[in-house]
Amino acid sequence: MNNNEIEQIVKQVIAGMQGTGAAGTKSAGPVPKTARVAMLTGIEKIELQEYALPEIGDDDILVKVEGCGVCGTDAHEYKRDPFGLIPVVLGHEGTGEIVKIGKNVKKDSAGKPLGIGDKVVTCMIFQDNPDITMFDLNKQNVGGADVYGLLPDDNMHFKGWFADYIVIGKGSTVFNVSDLDLDSRILIEPCAVLIHAVERAKTTGILRFNSRVVVQGCGPIGLICIAVLRTMGIENITAVDGEEKRLEFAKRMGANKTVNFKEHKGIEALSAAVEESFGGYLADFAFQCTGSPVAHSNIYKFIRNGGGLCELGFFINGGDATINPHFDLCSKEITLVGSWVYTLRDYATTFDFLKRAIAIGLPIKELITHKYPLEKINDAFITNVKMEGLKIAVVND
Ligand SMILES: [Zn+2]
Repeated sequence: MNNNEIEQIVKQVIAGMQGTGAAGTKSAGPVPKTARVAMLTGIEKIELQEYALPEIGDDDILVKVEGCGVCGTDAHEYKRDPFGLIPVVLGHEGTGEIVKIGKNVKKDSAGKPLGIGDKVVTCMIFQDNPDITMFDLNKQNVGGADVYGLLPDDNMHFKGWFADYIVIGKGSTVFNVSDLDLDSRILIEPCAVLIHAVERAKTTGILRFNSRVVVQGCGPIGLICIAVLRTMGIENITAVDGEEKRLEFAKRMGANKTVNFKEHKGIEALSAAVEESFGGYLADFAFQCTGSPVAHSNIYKFIRNGGGLCELGFFINGGDATINPHFDLCSKEITLVGSWVYTLRDYATTFDFLKRAIAIGLPIKELITHKYPLEKINDAFITNVKMEGLKIAVVND
């Protein structure tokens, strides 16, 4: 390297610090010319590919990825390509730091200032649906909208969070979450699902301060459900699962009683165990957090007359469930709500939930049981598919 080259580099760095990138785009400093993406190129096959980083337009943001959770949706796409996206860069539970920002981008979707160095997460891309906005509580959930990490590959390539960088374009929702640590930021997306479920549950008018609540299923969704209820001041929580290790974790997340369904033969014995856990009462409200149709059929038996139920376990078609409409619904007058993804408002509420959960000592960050670097992303998916651990994350250094 000669003096001239060194001078050029120094100039570049200074220009970066002063935020005078090309064409009004602010930049944090030199960004590499090329970067890697983890491309799903076939069933159960992810390859690291290197592409030139694109120019950033006036409405775009370039984010250096710090980490991204592996979601059940990613695992389905990896195993069977049900969405027909291959080749695709997956990863939608991601977060990172803004390194370049177009001159038109001044604020995030909640109105917070946005600039170089801020840590962000994305939600959905809404350019075609102005009906979904942040500030109308009654607006629909975001299901069906586009999301980074579930878009087919194109010439730009940097459209998923399993990569070194991602380009956030116009019409995207992006939130400044610089006040949350990396693990919390990786957990925002799955936690938003539970904030929404609890909001749905509240519409029944049955879920109240210290209701008796049963949470069935202690995978990440059920465990986060318990933590959300706990941060709301609900302490009468019974967790139901078939694995002792998960039930132990459920207790640390805020459940005060647990029922292992493997220890109770038949639904009568199981509902009696739930009743006993509440000191001789059935639950006022139930959250169904498994993807098992039998679990859906069973859960009505845990709920008192006039109680409520939120079903949120079926992110994919798990088949039909049988219930007896007379006994399970009519004569008991159960109020049932379904829940699916979240609204934008729920997404923002989630940031506060995470801070509160950590403040009251819930071990929410322990949900991330495995971390892999980008070059080991296939191992991350294998671990996820094997259902080892809870939340698996890809974390860049
Ligand atoms: Zn997801």
